[in-house]
Amino acid sequence: MLTPRHTNSVPRMLEPRKLAAQGKSIAGLIAPDNCLRLLDAVERIRSPLSVELLFYRDEQNRIRLEGKVGAEVSSVCQRCLEELNISLEADIARAVVFSDEEMRILPRELDPWMLQGEAGDIIALLEDELIVSLPIVSCHPEGECGFPSQFGPAKDDAVSEKQDNPFNILEQLKERTSETN
Ligand SMILES: [Zn+2]
Repeated sequence: MLTPRHTNSVPRMLEPRKLAAQGKSIAGLIAPDNCLRLLDAVERIRSPLSVELLFYRDEQNRIRLEGKVGAEVSSVCQRCLEELNISLEADIARAVVFSDEEMRILPRELDPWMLQGEAGDIIALLEDELIVSLPIVSCHPEGECGFPSQFGPAKDDAVSEKQDNPFNILEQLKERTSETN
């Protein structure tokens, strides 16, 4: 995760042309309340988004944006259905374009950030990057997932379930094997 060295909040609307002319870097935080799109994609946003951005003109005089965004979020583990913490981090690398024509001549390796006017919604862009970086299947790592213990022998109030449950039979087999070793 990015270390939040900066505590100032990043404004939603930025003007890349102006910022690039100043060679300006922006670092700060974005409150979870401002990230409704990301919130739709996860269970909870557990930290402000931590952002570092640099605006500049490249050798072809294109306006470029580079940086990083990170956030701590939680999702639902698809095995045990309990809360699962995920650290998200995404690199940002875009060329700012203002028209379809500029977009058309942009080299294929550059991802565009298309603006309608001088100002662009940076929070929407950062949210999109974080959503893309979400794991497709989210599960607790091995050993941290609550799923096996849910059916494990620790449950003392379900004796009959204990006998019938295939997971417990497996558990008992494992115990037996480890005893003989
Ligand atoms: Zn789990």
